[in-house]
Amino acid sequence: MINLDGRLKAGQALAADWAAELRAHALHADREPDAIKDLLHLAAMAYLATSPVPEKYLSAPILIDGHHFSGMTTLERVVFIEEMAVGDPGLLLAAPGPSLSGGLLLALGDDDQRERFYERLFRRPTWTFFGLTEPDRGSDAGAMTTSLDRVDGRLLLNGAKRYVGNAARAEIGVVFARTAPGPLGVTAVVVETNQPGFAATPIPTIGLRANQICDIRLDDVVIREDDVLGRGLSRTRRGMWGALQALNNFRPGVAALAVGVARAALEYVQQNRTMLSPAEAEQIGRIAARIAAAREVVWRAAIAVDSSPEGAYLASAAKGRAARLAEEVTQQALSFFGPGARWDHPLLDKLDRDARGVEFMEGTTNIHRLNVFQGLVRETVGT
Ligand SMILES: Cc1cc2nc3c(=O)[nH]c(=O)nc-3n(C[C@H](O)[C@H](O)[C@H](O)COP(=O)(O)OP(=O)(O)OC[C@H]3O[C@@H](n4cnc5c(N)ncnc54)[C@H](O)[C@@H]3O)c2cc1C
Repeated sequence: MINLDGRLKAGQALAADWAAELRAHALHADREPDAIKDLLHLAAMAYLATSPVPEKYLSAPILIDGHHFSGMTTLERVVFIEEMAVGDPGLLLAAPGPSLSGGLLLALGDDDQRERFYERLFRRPTWTFFGLTEPDRGSDAGAMTTSLDRVDGRLLLNGAKRYVGNAARAEIGVVFARTAPGPLGVTAVVVETNQPGFAATPIPTIGLRANQICDIRLDDVVIREDDVLGRGLSRTRRGMWGALQALNNFRPGVAALAVGVARAALEYVQQNRTMLSPAEAEQIGRIAARIAAAREVVWRAAIAVDSSPEGAYLASAAKGRAARLAEEVTQQALSFFGPGARWDHPLLDKLDRDARGVEFMEGTTNIHRLNVFQGLVRETVGT
């Protein structure tokens, strides 16, 4: 069993306080995703605005009980994310900050690119986006067709992305595009959303609505040479390699989000169904044990990714397991309140819808099963 050190325990306790603030606005942000714009004063937003950011770029890192926090380890992030997701997973995903595009800058960006990116982020609360998925090319992201071509000396981006969180409110983000056929022909670029030819439109969704996932159109968007990521790296280390590094690093965080959703549903039942039959009490105990076991896998996955982002099989196992847990626990929680549960308990209804969204984020359970299977075949799982 993993025991957190004093630093992470202090962070965990404070993040639990932030969760209460997020919860107070959860249902409103579910109805009105743009509510996030009026919630930037919440304490959780300060952490999310600087997570992950290397300390050398931070003028004032988050300080809790004398400890610094900047989200630079996956273990730190999963501890904070689970607590905040108990408050509201949607608002957590809707926050301005570097998020997954920051992870890509860490994997592929050079010093100058990172400096410019963080400088932008710290000027004012700034949303970012990570454009990988395309219409009809989600799980098979490597088959993307968005193109980056040199035309009359200019780099032009053309194509479409889909289901991209926060894209309509973002000022800056990263887009993956093809420069040549094959797996090595993919490049990532930094894109300014005020460029002519960039358009992002929110897609109506059922779960994680505050995250406001969007369709993106890219029509002859001009990309500056120094916004091409991985310029100094070999072809094998650019593009999809960077995407995998960033996704591997963030996957335990999505798993922690799912654990937080399951915990929120369980805690709701515990607070609102005080009279339980012995069978129900036993069911609650089983759910609590499953949540604790899933958390242990998530923390182990985080530690594994921190030591080697390339060996992310445990992270796939954690994501698949935690996503299934969130779906099953939210369904079971609803069953504690009878046929009118969704109507009478809007928060549980929301958590159940959010759990469906978590299943699709950063790869579905089927894709993670395939990933774990490949690790087993190559005998690299657990190493
Ligand atoms: C809340 C949310 C936020 C998101 N944020 C972003 C973002 O910021 N940026 C971004 O780029 N994308 C984002 N996505 C998109 C997400 O990455 C994709 O939804 C995901 O990769 C799945 O792709 P798809 O939706 O096209 O489903 P598909 O790939 O069409 O899959 C549909 C079904 O087929 C199954 N399937 C597909 N291939 C196989 C296979 N080989 N074997 C077995 N089963 C298979 C899947 O498991 C799934 O059940 C987000 C999605 C959600 C829901």
